[in-house]
Amino acid sequence: MQNLKLPITIDPYKSAQRRLVCEGYFELSGLDRLQAVTQGHGEQVNVKITFDVDEQGLIVLSGTAQASVSLTCQRCNEEFSQDLNVEFCYSPVKHEDAAARLPSYYDAVELDENGEVNLRELVEDELILAIPLIPKHELEDCPADADSTWGKLPDTLEKPNPFDVLKQLK
Ligand SMILES: [Zn+2]
Repeated sequence: MQNLKLPITIDPYKSAQRRLVCEGYFELSGLDRLQAVTQGHGEQVNVKITFDVDEQGLIVLSGTAQASVSLTCQRCNEEFSQDLNVEFCYSPVKHEDAAARLPSYYDAVELDENGEVNLRELVEDELILAIPLIPKHELEDCPADADSTWGKLPDTLEKPNPFDVLKQLK
């Protein structure tokens, strides 16, 4: 596996014409929004992205990303490590109207003013969405007795919902 630091933004049209395959990583220390919703994380997120043109002539960015983060178990309040594995399939659009015309199997990613896609932001969004709404140990790994701690609802309600955090930061 190549260990290349990926570019933060990339021109998807040129990359698709070259059928580019990007394999490498982003440093997790640069992903501020992900850090805001986790207690800690590994050093990097490993990413593989393939650029292609589909039979309708649409540009497609598809790939996978893996990262390890620390979350607080909502049953016992202890930290635990969770692997986030995401798969994605995007097509770049110039504005929101064009997004509505995309086939449903593609997510839309907006181009920036230079006609580029922010790969790091795209991967960060995917990782944030992969965080469980109520993070918990696997039952057999959790030191808390599930029956007695489920009564402590206020603790759970005070935790920021990662989806809300994502909305605020957008
Ligand atoms: Zn636990």
